[in-house]
Amino acid sequence: MTSEQLKQLDASYICNTYARFDLCLDHGKGATCWDMDGKTYVDFSSGIGVNSLGFCDDDWLLAITGQAGRLQHISNLFYTKPDVMLAELLCRRTGMQKVFFCNSGAEANEGAIKTARKYSFDKYGRGRDEIIAMKNSFHGRTMATLSATGQEVYHNFFFPFVDAFSFVDAGDVAQLEAAVSEKTCAVMLELVQGEGGVIALDPSYVTAVEKLCREKDLLLIVDEVQTGIGRTGYLLACEHYGIHPDIVTIAKGIGAGLPLGAVLFGEKTASVLGFGQHGTTFGGNPVICAGAQVVLEKLNDAGLAEVRQKADHLRAKLAALPHVRSVSGLGMMIGLELDDGLEAKQIVQAGIEEGVITLTAKSRVRLLPPLTITVEELDTGVERLGRALARV
Ligand SMILES: *Cc1c(COP(=O)(O)O)cnc(C)c1O
Repeated sequence: MTSEQLKQLDASYICNTYARFDLCLDHGKGATCWDMDGKTYVDFSSGIGVNSLGFCDDDWLLAITGQAGRLQHISNLFYTKPDVMLAELLCRRTGMQKVFFCNSGAEANEGAIKTARKYSFDKYGRGRDEIIAMKNSFHGRTMATLSATGQEVYHNFFFPFVDAFSFVDAGDVAQLEAAVSEKTCAVMLELVQGEGGVIALDPSYVTAVEKLCREKDLLLIVDEVQTGIGRTGYLLACEHYGIHPDIVTIAKGIGAGLPLGAVLFGEKTASVLGFGQHGTTFGGNPVICAGAQVVLEKLNDAGLAEVRQKADHLRAKLAALPHVRSVSGLGMMIGLELDDGLEAKQIVQAGIEEGVITLTAKSRVRLLPPLTITVEELDTGVERLGRALARV
């Protein structure tokens, strides 16, 4: 099949919800991939922060194929080793106490929202159910997580949305204090707003939010779907900020390319959900969990230190590229603010032509390289991105 034929079939049979870039990919290894015509690309997208170990990491492949050959699924009605061992590892590494496995970021946030409401219901009864989220946030595409997303463009067509979400400007403590009422049960935020433009929250704001939550018994929900699992150079971005949320959600990078999400519960929330109150058929799939253990093993102290080093190297190089006004985000979660008049999408397209895959986030070019990318791949990718930027 040629790439032209593939694109035609896609147009005929795939629901028209994605504006795809003109690139048909065939296979990859590490941070390099090949299109259907054999041209190579350095991947600075990792499938939107998903392929944390790049394409087809050898140890990950061994773990998932080994598990697929033993037992690929049996449901959450029975005990299996991979999900239990992964949960133990996650708790040990994050200081959280219990884990609920699901299949995506939106589902993890659904679990967090349900837990926040039930925590408050159990303790205070009905009516204390409002969640304050941030403007410019992104929490997913299900009805509740769209409702929790603080961008008007997502609040269309699908009425009615889920009640009891309100929004404040991230960074404004007084506004948050004023928004809290006797009806508030939780505050939900991303530490680096990803889809919103790769914008890191101010540490003093985050500390103040945590303090306010403690004082008012509001649950602090941190959506680490994009920032988590080494993306910012620490296992959780919470470590940058020195905070201990009541609920942390993860997804994207934990499965290394296979669908896995999780809700991590702290002391207050560990026993809120009971038998029959939440569940999912696929959550905690043994094959995916066996692979996810490899992700956490590779992101040990030495692995994370290496991520931070490579991120510093990459950020310095990016800051020196033409038309790059500033470099935002944390660690390997990177936004490029461009000179006026330049469109991020146009740079991504030019990058593809030069052999490097990047993403956009609002008006910025976004980079989420695989955490295992080599310095050589980084340098090649930056060189190609530089050519794309110099061209426009
Ligand atoms: C991607 C993302 C989600 C949604 O995850 P899905 O797996 O697409 O459902 C939620 N929150 C944040 C911060 C994200 O980046």
